[in-house]
Amino acid sequence: MSRDDMRVQVLVVGGGPAGSSAAWHCAQAGLDVCVADRARFPRAKPCAEYVSPEGSRILHAMGALEALEARAAQLSGMVVHAPSGDRIHGEFVARHGFRGFRDRGLGVRREILDTVLLDRARHAGVRVHEQAKVESLLTGTDGRVHGAVLRTPDGAYTVRADLVIGADGLRSVVSRRLDLARAARVPRRVALVTHYRDVEGVGALGEMHVTRNGYVGLARVSDGLVNVALVVPKSRAGGMREGTEAFLERWLHAHPQLGPRFANATRVTPVRATGPFASRAKRPWHPGAMLTGDAADFFDPFTGEGIYAALRGGELLAEFAQAAVGAPSLERHVQALRAYEGERKTVFGGKWRVEQLIGLAVGWAPLLNHAARVLSRDRDLADLLIGVTGDFVPASVVLRPRTLLRLLGA
Ligand SMILES: Cc1cc2nc3c(=O)[nH]c(=O)nc-3n(C[C@H](O)[C@H](O)[C@H](O)COP(=O)(O)OP(=O)(O)OC[C@H]3O[C@@H](n4cnc5c(N)ncnc54)[C@H](O)[C@@H]3O)c2cc1C
Repeated sequence: MSRDDMRVQVLVVGGGPAGSSAAWHCAQAGLDVCVADRARFPRAKPCAEYVSPEGSRILHAMGALEALEARAAQLSGMVVHAPSGDRIHGEFVARHGFRGFRDRGLGVRREILDTVLLDRARHAGVRVHEQAKVESLLTGTDGRVHGAVLRTPDGAYTVRADLVIGADGLRSVVSRRLDLARAARVPRRVALVTHYRDVEGVGALGEMHVTRNGYVGLARVSDGLVNVALVVPKSRAGGMREGTEAFLERWLHAHPQLGPRFANATRVTPVRATGPFASRAKRPWHPGAMLTGDAADFFDPFTGEGIYAALRGGELLAEFAQAAVGAPSLERHVQALRAYEGERKTVFGGKWRVEQLIGLAVGWAPLLNHAARVLSRDRDLADLLIGVTGDFVPASVVLRPRTLLRLLGA
């Protein structure tokens, strides 16, 4: 078959964690799947590169965990430094009775993670087209999506599909072409991400340092490197005109708890900038199309949520994709897509609320200082919260009024 008249049941746009997971799970469900990504892998992605303990469950199911654990750093929990100096220390192994698929999170370079996952999709029979950028969608007179036009260095071709899955990240072209994209007004933050060698005192806990002018995460990742991810309000990003490297170094050295730890450190990768990131699609579907991963929604990197949400989103969509592809009528097709939207709300709804609460505290120093004072004395509650960010403690546990009152110190 020539590339001009290629036909598949499912075209997945984007080969990041969301796209690979969606493609792998759809292929396991018996669907004929093709992934198109504009990049050539391995490719970098600005990210703090933490995968939660429960994320390992899906990596294991996809047959990727062993290869990734061999090249990842292990993280036993998190320590959050509030602007007041109080510290929230939470570990994944704790007395609350919940247990993740693994007792540790992973710190793994995205060049490695995303390449391994895309290879697992290939291994499951998915056709992968790299350096194939989706520029436009094919739609019928009824508005239903029927495929996409892909541009490669050698020219353009079309892929016709019963279903197009938009897993193409924050500025999803699928979401924009279908008028589903909606950027959130708050928080408006931008990020700079890089890797250093020889940062002093970075241990098995991921670190978050929250200040009045942004926050920075430090965590060990693959190859003995430390991932440094700085997030600042967009209103303060004007200083980046001097260059992102200079801005980052100046920011780190302006904070006495951080600067000295970088005295002998060497930056080993370029500083990558991204943002603003908060967005949520009006709905994660359109006749003939579904959205997943960041293309469907992303809030803020603070809780290290996105990779798990991308993997889990791909896992949960397969059954609905199968129903939508095999639907005997447009009405039944749309029913399957609505059911997909409902399932996403059930699975992710509690987590979205917790993320918003944390996002609010991170942007409002008095609230975070208060929470940090309470949590520094209530280690069990800190462990519980870290378990929610680790995706193995249900969000509903911390959203109970009794727990919220405990958080407020009442
Ligand atoms: C600063 C920062 C730190 C973060 N830290 C963490 C963390 O520690 N842990 C965590 O879990 N999450 C973290 N996240 C979130 C995480 O990076 C994302 O949620 C995750 O990458 C989402 O995966 P995805 O597959 O949806 O999108 P992506 O990983 O962005 O993949 C999208 C893919 O689509 C491709 N693509 C885009 N447009 C097109 C097109 N038109 N045609 C074809 N291909 C296209 C891209 O090349 C890319 O490969 C962080 C995010 C930021 C911004």
